[in-house]
Amino acid sequence: HNVDVNDIVTSVMSTFKLKVEKYGGVIDADLEAEDAIVSVDEMHFTNVIFNLLDNAVKYRREEVPLSLFIRTRTIGDKVEISIRDNGIGIKREDLKKIFDKFYRVSTGNRHDVKGFGLGLAYVHKIITDLKGDIRVESELNQGSTFIITLPLIKNK
Ligand code: ATP
Ligand code: MG
Repeated sequence: HNVDVNDIVTSVMSTFKLKVEKYGGVIDADLEAEDAIVSVDEMHFTNVIFNLLDNAVKYRREEVPLSLFIRTRTIGDKVEISIRDNGIGIKREDLKKIFDKFYRVSTGNRHDVKGFGLGLAYVHKIITDLKGDIRVESELNQGSTFIITLPLIKNK
């Protein structure tokens, strides 16, 4: 299925807007990647973005207003989608494990948030099956940025 990256990002963003605002937060985007078409299953790709935004909200910090930023841009024959939060961050030693099935960071989850530790394993599986890539940059108590790259079908 050929899917426009910005269309999916925009639609998932709008489903999160109310939730983010409920916490007094903001969600902004810079959707630079115009007409970036990728070959993905629309439902799975929607779930990928949903999972990353879900985490960004779940692992927020109470001390600062939640602030989320989504960026899309094309780099050569790839599209990059990054989702940045100002949440609790992830320790260096946990970074390599968070994409594992059932892995949840045991300490530092300041909210009593529930989960199965499956969201990121799912995200990783979907993205790598599409010959894409996902990486994360994070600083404890500052926030995290999840960066996906996917091969483009065409970029008009
Ligand atoms: P599920 O997604 O299955 O409901 P989960 O959110 O615990 O459960 P993952 O989405 O796979 O599982 O995330 C794994 C762990 O990585 C989380 O438990 C959390 O500790 C950490 N994590 C994920 N995203 C973030 C983030 N944006 N900020 C801080 N920690 C995160
Ligand atoms: Mg999750």
